[in-house]
Amino acid sequence: LLQCSTSEIFFTSGGTEADNCALRGAIATFSIQHVISSSIEHSAVLQTLQYLAGEEKIQLHFVDLDKQGQIDLQHLASLLQKYPNALVSLMHANNEIGNLNPIEEIGEICRTYKAFFHSDTVQTIGHFTHDLSKLPLDYLVASAHKFHGPKGIGFLYVNRKAKINPLITGGAQERNMRGGTENVYGIVGLAKAMEIAYAHMSDHRQQIEQLKKHLIEQLQKNIEGISFNGTSADLDKSLYTVLNVCLPASEENDMLLFNLDLQGISSSGGSACSSGAAVGSHVLAALQHPKEKGAVRFSFSKFNTLSEIDYTVEQLITLYKGIAT
Ligand code: PLP
Repeated sequence: LLQCSTSEIFFTSGGTEADNCALRGAIATFSIQHVISSSIEHSAVLQTLQYLAGEEKIQLHFVDLDKQGQIDLQHLASLLQKYPNALVSLMHANNEIGNLNPIEEIGEICRTYKAFFHSDTVQTIGHFTHDLSKLPLDYLVASAHKFHGPKGIGFLYVNRKAKINPLITGGAQERNMRGGTENVYGIVGLAKAMEIAYAHMSDHRQQIEQLKKHLIEQLQKNIEGISFNGTSADLDKSLYTVLNVCLPASEENDMLLFNLDLQGISSSGGSACSSGAAVGSHVLAALQHPKEKGAVRFSFSKFNTLSEIDYTVEQLITLYKGIAT
């Protein structure tokens, strides 16, 4: 990936900075007026675009989603027909519900309408392969801590055909793409973590998929009225590292994350990035997730075990015993 000859790659402080550089950079460099995105993007993308729309720098259009959060590709094409030369920003995988978007197809549609294509690939770099010699996209981002690398380092890939002006000026580092002394320890850590992630990717995938499948089966067997948000229970259409569970209506829901935490289980109610904030998940809100039902996101890694999954299921059974839908 890093040796791809058609690219510029520069290191950033993480996914948020890389998303900002791609979006703000492309909009300014190519005088883009229309941006097409979705209401369930990570806030690194969504809030950046909403801010730029609020400043009247762009017009922001959202592509239609179905009840599971899947993109309506025909609607995307019709928006692009209406707004040619737009910038499309659609993530590869959703960090809360795990939905995988068909970025090859999206990229082909963008090429047909001569649109620029940015994809927030933070959740998939290190877990899926991206063949940049074939993928029709212009900007792709990574964050090392999503594949067991250090925090505070990521990178932006820029297709040379869509080269942007730098956002951080003031130094010739990174071939003038990002001024300032490089975070050498972070860069070395990212490269090593990436090497390990890709060297063992299929083994890790198999191991993690087994954990996710086991959790789905055990929850379905033991908790009446359980379901799953987005496409997260469909292994072909979601990240193998994320499962978003929809729990029956219960007064337990308010204290769910707290109670799981007390039992030593780290999970989140949506995006971990907003945990602690008094706002709910914008992703679940966009999917019209019923407020009375609970939602919890479990993330899995190669360091988790089947016995940890069984323990989690036991705790959930205790909390939800006897509660029907
Ligand atoms: N995009 C997605 C999809 C993410 O999951 C995250 C992190 O949680 C980010 C962007 C932001 O990355 P970072 O925390 O490295 O700034």
